[in-house]
Amino acid sequence: MAKPKISSDWMCGCAGCHMSLLDIDERILTIAELTDIRATPITDLKEPDESGVDVGILEGGINNTANEEVAHRMRKRCKLLVALGDCAVFGGVPAMRNFFTIEEALRRAYVETESTDSEGKIPSDPELARMTRVRAIHEVVPVDIFLPGCPPDPDAIFYVLSELAQGRKPELKGDLLHWR
Ligand code: SF4
Repeated sequence: MAKPKISSDWMCGCAGCHMSLLDIDERILTIAELTDIRATPITDLKEPDESGVDVGILEGGINNTANEEVAHRMRKRCKLLVALGDCAVFGGVPAMRNFFTIEEALRRAYVETESTDSEGKIPSDPELARMTRVRAIHEVVPVDIFLPGCPPDPDAIFYVLSELAQGRKPELKGDLLHWR
């Protein structure tokens, strides 16, 4: 029987959830044995196979049109979609800027930040103009499995991946929902 194919990608986050995934340490070999790990942001292949994968994993919220494209592409190409981490599940830290206007957020980031010198100015990059309110993934595409945490505990990530790898739907509860 073919191994389930897994792909991951990230959007508006800090990469910490993927670092927590790497923190499953040597258990990554178990996952590699049980699955066919395809594209990830930390491997050479960056996009999930056009022919599709069994499990898609997305880190980060959705902040702009580039993030939207990543979410739609993964949703279209995977059978089961996992929202990895608080940013993916409900917007997390990046969604704190939803309390401000985009102009205020850009000014804070590029002009008022303590490390910015007096020459600081907002870049005229068209992508910045396409920024939207930060959204959780499920506000843009349907999600099958929510794996919260900032970042999620490596044990919880291993549990979810190993259950999916063996064709079971993981049930996150108890200790797996907080750091130990
Ligand atoms: S949930 Fe936390 S660790 Fe994961 S991307 Fe967001 S801020 Fe980073």
